[in-house]
Amino acid sequence: MTDFRDRLDTHVTRWVNPTIGALKAYPVPDSTGLLKLDAMENPFVWPEAMQREWAELMSATHVNRYPHPDAPDVKAGIAEVFDVPEGVDILLGNGSDELIQLIAMAVNGKGRTIMAPEPSFVMYQMVARYLSMEYVGLPLTDTFEIDIEQTLRRIEAEDPAVIFLAQPNNPTGNLWGDEKLRRILESARGLVVIDEAYTAFTEADYLDWLSDFPNLLVMRTFSKVGLAGLRLGMLFGHAAWIEQINKCRLPYNINSLTQATAAFALKHFSVFENQTQELVRQRRQLSAQLAELPGLTVFPSEANFILVRTQPGQADLLHAGLKDRGILIKKLHGSHPSLEDCLRVNVSSADENRQLLDALTELCAE
Ligand SMILES: *Cc1c(COP(=O)(O)O)cnc(C)c1O
Repeated sequence: MTDFRDRLDTHVTRWVNPTIGALKAYPVPDSTGLLKLDAMENPFVWPEAMQREWAELMSATHVNRYPHPDAPDVKAGIAEVFDVPEGVDILLGNGSDELIQLIAMAVNGKGRTIMAPEPSFVMYQMVARYLSMEYVGLPLTDTFEIDIEQTLRRIEAEDPAVIFLAQPNNPTGNLWGDEKLRRILESARGLVVIDEAYTAFTEADYLDWLSDFPNLLVMRTFSKVGLAGLRLGMLFGHAAWIEQINKCRLPYNINSLTQATAAFALKHFSVFENQTQELVRQRRQLSAQLAELPGLTVFPSEANFILVRTQPGQADLLHAGLKDRGILIKKLHGSHPSLEDCLRVNVSSADENRQLLDALTELCAE
């Protein structure tokens, strides 16, 4: 038996790419029984009538056949709901995570580089590693702004194939500012992907910029508006780009249930808009209330989460203390040097925010 185990390990070590061997699979903490305020999900469920209508639609959706390869109903709904400009094509992914991977696959090659600010969304870096691409992180300032002169120098020196810019940024919550984005788009020879995962929570919107910049793609997702379980992301760009990236997509990546549900959700999109607007109102209130707690520094947010910094050495204690009280938030401390003592909390319903605040008030008084 041990002999078999040794042989197995020998095979795995011999053949798995060392970059993959050194990685850890994307960690998702067990949230059983906890109030989940760690992953930017929408806390609200659907009105009962909508739930019933959807259940009927699901029972009439047959899964014996393959899904439609191009999901035209979903794309038509997206074009209408998001006011997609004429001449802009759409590519759908199994979450925008998949789209990040498809973009990288399409431009991959020896010595090709992915660039992104740091700290930002971890999948940009992970995808670079999966594909043995170079990855360059651009350090942000103390207040998590882009240092534009340094960034332009790095772009010049590294000539990245893709720059991913989450706008607003995760986990910091801030916007980069139009002027900096414009200068990056003008100096980069490669693709610039503006990742608008949090578009529902901000006025910033770059779809219109597609007509000005031939190297721009804009990415969005249904996850943060209330459909995280669907796994549906969308990429907007000129046909010339979308056509190439589409070749890397596995056939039928958007399953029948997702297609039917997404088309249905788009018809009822005002329900989601009302929910996300409520979260924007709650964000204002929660930010103000968190700022009143002793020892917490609150960073401004244009998303459905808030970044806070605790007193030195307190992040672990607060994170664990909340967990003991049945609340799961994201501990960022330890994930990047500039996120020292940092935690990230979701903005949720009034009731759930209250539970978070009550628990934090107790913990901060200890
Ligand atoms: C959550 C998030 C995503 C991932 O979205 P999925 O569609 O769920 O894969 C992409 N980009 C950013 C910046 C995010 O925060």
